[in-house]
Amino acid sequence: MTREFQLGQMRWPEVAQAAARPGSTVVWPFGSMEQHGPHLPLHTDSLFAERLIDSVLERLPENLPIWRLPLQPLGFSPEHRGFAGTLSLPAELLIAQVVAVGQELAGYGFQRLVLFNGHGGQISLLQTAARQLRSSLPTLGVLPCFIWSGPEGIQELIPEPERSEGLHAALAETSLMLHLAPGLVAAERPIDGNQGGLPPRGWSLEGAAPNAWLTRDLSSTGVVGNSSGANAELGAELWQKLGEGWLQRFESLLASDWPPTDRPEAR
Ligand SMILES: [Zn+2]
Repeated sequence: MTREFQLGQMRWPEVAQAAARPGSTVVWPFGSMEQHGPHLPLHTDSLFAERLIDSVLERLPENLPIWRLPLQPLGFSPEHRGFAGTLSLPAELLIAQVVAVGQELAGYGFQRLVLFNGHGGQISLLQTAARQLRSSLPTLGVLPCFIWSGPEGIQELIPEPERSEGLHAALAETSLMLHLAPGLVAAERPIDGNQGGLPPRGWSLEGAAPNAWLTRDLSSTGVVGNSSGANAELGAELWQKLGEGWLQRFESLLASDWPPTDRPEAR
């Protein structure tokens, strides 16, 4: 049996020992509850973040000081309001939650908190929360990560125009779900593209000079992009790249004392 890495299944004396280990690291998977088109479930981002961190933690050597919190299932998704089932929390509430939980963890002695986020719409919010938390705590390193950013080889697997325009519930997410949980994928494959038109020269939806888009500006089905070509083989390749990329990143993080903080014992 592999070691227990779910903090919620441990007893408090075990947690006290865990927190006291050098480099003790807690990963907090962040999801969302938001529409993912007529074919993917509301908890798509949550499922990806949780399955990915578990697969990484299962493959890491047993003696490493890393554990995970239960999933944060509700996030910041105002762009998807108006599509039934989307539940978005206020940004201030999520920031306060990250700061409060980080302060508690640091109080027990944990040294790093990794926010492992599956929802593209809350990248900047979690970065803001992380910076706010870090600035209030001398001893806790905070690493706000987005699961699709970082692992090598992901972009190469997605052909244009999906690579630039498949922003939501499109080729990549649908393929990954077909690999991980095909029973959760409905038969519809909307091709909504971007019905809001193309931005003028020099402007973009998400790149340089971006636009705070709302899904309803761009799409009637909730899909932003093209899910018609999705398939489980592509999903398996994406899963492999995501797993490899994050496994390597967590290995190197745990072998280091990154990020620098004011740890008394490190001086
Ligand atoms: Zn998503």
